[in-house]
Amino acid sequence: MKLRLTAEQDAVVGRARAFASSRLRARVAEFDQAGVPREIVQALGREGLLGALVPADLGGSPLDAITWGLVTEEIGKVCCNTRYLLTVHASIVAGTLARWGSRAQKAKWLPALATGDVVGAFALSEPETGSDAANVRTRYEASEGGFRIEGRKRWTTFGAMADVFLVFARRGDEVTAFLVERDRPNVHVKPIRDVLAGRGSHLAELHFEGVEVPKENVVGSLGAGFRYVCSTALDIGRYSVAWAAVGVAQGALEAMSTYAGKREQFGQRLHEFQLVKAMIADAVTDVHAARALCMHAGMLRDKRDPEAMIESSIAKQFAARVATRVTADALQVHGAYGLLHGGVVEMLFREARALSIIEGSTQIQQIVIGDHGAQAYGEGTHET
Ligand SMILES: Cc1cc2nc3c(=O)[nH]c(=O)nc-3n(C[C@H](O)[C@H](O)[C@H](O)COP(=O)(O)OP(=O)(O)OC[C@H]3O[C@@H](n4cnc5c(N)ncnc54)[C@H](O)[C@@H]3O)c2cc1C
Repeated sequence: MKLRLTAEQDAVVGRARAFASSRLRARVAEFDQAGVPREIVQALGREGLLGALVPADLGGSPLDAITWGLVTEEIGKVCCNTRYLLTVHASIVAGTLARWGSRAQKAKWLPALATGDVVGAFALSEPETGSDAANVRTRYEASEGGFRIEGRKRWTTFGAMADVFLVFARRGDEVTAFLVERDRPNVHVKPIRDVLAGRGSHLAELHFEGVEVPKENVVGSLGAGFRYVCSTALDIGRYSVAWAAVGVAQGALEAMSTYAGKREQFGQRLHEFQLVKAMIADAVTDVHAARALCMHAGMLRDKRDPEAMIESSIAKQFAARVATRVTADALQVHGAYGLLHGGVVEMLFREARALSIIEGSTQIQQIVIGDHGAQAYGEGTHET
């Protein structure tokens, strides 16, 4: 699928592609084992690839939604662990702060997030709370200096490296978002290792053991944490993960097509067998369709169309499934070589599985999309 990009868009996407090729490709397996190093975070910052959602006057390099999506695809195609940084730090944390942060919070955090001098993480999920995110159990109460936060978070991407966390906590029925600096007393960070996906993305469990934060650290207003701040964060995150899934699927498609063009069995190259060709054809179709849905969602986001939110869910749900299908077929085409630990398709296959779970699982997207469908298309369908 040929995309018509402006010269400016093309240059940014080209920079991301060059970065992935020169700085990431050779080290993907190393990052999978040891984690993405800070040096790569800062290098991405220097390339202007962390400030896409940060205003220019705060040191950002703002991008339209489609360009940002294509950048996410380019990085995600090569290194999913690095792509997690674009989703969480550069999209969710920076984007949500740009939308809901106070003037002082923006001035303090956004320039440093854009350069990568500070790493931000998004701490919503907990040991007992995943999809039902409105029911976070982490609590806060008023204290002399502001608020005291008590509770545990889990699966915090880049949490083991982050300098600041966007944390959601409840007091009675209200949920509030807070910025919690890692160096505050009683913040405990425990890395989570040996996971199938996101192994190099510094996943962590966080324990806030009566952590004191000043009232200036409230993001948005008291009680606005779920309906406004979190909803913005999840919307941004979904859009990013949709593109991440396109990247994974595109990476698998390229690996599968390349291998099928080289490997010979029965005196023919694999891509000459009709059954293999069918897998490639399905993958091409799936990837093009997923990218088209992402482009559509991006176009609506750039127009600030309210439909952008549901279209991002649709794109995310579809693209995550595509990533699972295409990586499975890519692995199949590679035969036993596809199973080799640390190989390109083995890593993409593992990473694809997470994309149907994170940022609203496939089932949660189906609920949202189903509700939308019933409203948007159901008028009169129950009348007899
Ligand atoms: C690699 C990785 C990175 C992550 N990074 C972050 C992060 O940075 N910050 C963060 O806060 N969280 C993060 N998460 C957590 C992620 O957001 C949750 O895993 C996700 O929200 C699902 O929650 P859960 O895993 O607790 O599953 P559950 O919510 O317990 O769901 C389990 C299963 O039940 C299904 N299910 C749940 N409710 C329903 C329903 N109503 N109807 C039908 N089916 C349902 C789900 O679809 C799923 O299949 C990360 C997770 C992973 C794997």
